[in-house]
Amino acid sequence: MVLRFAPSPTGPLHIGGVRTALYNYLLARQKNGKLILRIEDTDQTRYVPGAEEYIIEALTWCGIEFDEGPHIGGPNAPYRQSERKSLYAQYAHLLVERGWAYYAFDTEEELELMRKRFEAAGIISPQYNAITRPYMKNSLTLPPDEVQARIRAEPYVIRFLMPRNKEVRFYDEIRGWVAFHTKELDDKVLLKSDGMPTYHLANVVDDHLMGVTHVIRGEEWLPSTPLHVLLYEAFEWEKPKFAHLPLLLRPDGGGKLSKRDADQLGFPVFPLTWKDPETGEVSVGFRERGFLPEGLVNYIALLGWHPAEEKEVFTLEELTHSFSLERVSRAGARFDYEKARWINQQHLRRMPTSSLLPQVRAAWETQNLPPIPEEKLSQLIDLAKERAALLPEIVEFARSFHERPFMPLEAALESRLSPEVIQHIPSLIESLIHIENWKAEELENVLKNWAKAKNISLSKALPTLRILLTGQHSGPSLYKLMEILGLEEIKIRWQAFASVYGVSRSV
Ligand code: GLU
Repeated sequence: MVLRFAPSPTGPLHIGGVRTALYNYLLARQKNGKLILRIEDTDQTRYVPGAEEYIIEALTWCGIEFDEGPHIGGPNAPYRQSERKSLYAQYAHLLVERGWAYYAFDTEEELELMRKRFEAAGIISPQYNAITRPYMKNSLTLPPDEVQARIRAEPYVIRFLMPRNKEVRFYDEIRGWVAFHTKELDDKVLLKSDGMPTYHLANVVDDHLMGVTHVIRGEEWLPSTPLHVLLYEAFEWEKPKFAHLPLLLRPDGGGKLSKRDADQLGFPVFPLTWKDPETGEVSVGFRERGFLPEGLVNYIALLGWHPAEEKEVFTLEELTHSFSLERVSRAGARFDYEKARWINQQHLRRMPTSSLLPQVRAAWETQNLPPIPEEKLSQLIDLAKERAALLPEIVEFARSFHERPFMPLEAALESRLSPEVIQHIPSLIESLIHIENWKAEELENVLKNWAKAKNISLSKALPTLRILLTGQHSGPSLYKLMEILGLEEIKIRWQAFASVYGVSRSV
């Protein structure tokens, strides 16, 4: 099984593109096949500098690895179509010889004139096809000598000779049998006047030369497939299997998910941050938003594929085992950012703290937060990852406990304090000093005994204690937080509180 991902470097990779690459990757790994990255850059007018590097970096970050490609080489090199330019013309000429294609000499003005004339005659959006072709300047209408003379002297294109009245049927692994009638199709250009192939020719020739057995790509390529099927027939090559993936829709299901929609709704559509080289506009990526590659890839896998198992959280390895094209639906898949966050949260929880530490530490430093010992940061990450959906939430959580609460407290917090509890805190601190085994369980015992001795209920004591130690009215286990803060820090925070609020006896 040979699969390929064949992006055009016309900009950053949209998550729809990541999904196409991912499904190809999963099948290649599952079936011990081969995965090729091919850069389809024949349309020089749409080329965007940096896009190819972006695509490779983004897929690498996602863990989608290739067996062959421009960045790693391989037996089918080169992998950029612009570097394979000299190869395609012979195939276009072969089709002319076989009567499946022809030379056309029409200028832009002549094409425009044709459209106007046929429109005036009542034909809606006229195309270059069986109806119009006899009126145009091409090797089917001009005498052979003139054709030869023009080929030597003028720019020309090679067009596919679309059969007049034929049904093209092919099997799509997701959609089943699909049929198109050739009267809906036009004589597509295969070779352009600058000698470059168009997408259709280069794509089919390369899939054949690279031995591709399965073409898995977005639904937007479905209308091109009948032409590709006819090209395989014309070349007398065995055609690959085709699968067209459902569209990615906006969360409300009302149309294709675009970058503009995503901007409006406040979520990314690109895996990594992208800076448009022309406009300088920056689009924040999922990585920079704080997604783990594991989380993003897991969520993307679910956009159109329904696992047979009763679960939604998968590692890349598990996806490789479970994925199947049979369970990819035809209907468009709605993007759901909350779900993406939830999936990411499940991966954050499972991630060992030691793997999160370097990333949190890096963010800590870029934000210039106060120094924090490794062990303390690890403990805070341990607590934070239970509730955070994205990496920055872990950083924010750790920061909020590491920084001392600002005194005086906000009025809303102040009003929740119990003077009765505050009055007994010095005696609590006294008991804390004598703890030998500074652990949450022991802290819990000491706190409970103290509350009992002072005849105050825990439900009254804990909120006050939490507010004065952390400046927050809710959060994870207070015992656990106190364990992390340590005795010295607790004393400092209590004293800061006591001096601002004028509590008489401090320790
Ligand atoms: N170059 C096309 C793209 O940008 C590839 C389509 C295909 O996979 O055949 O998506």
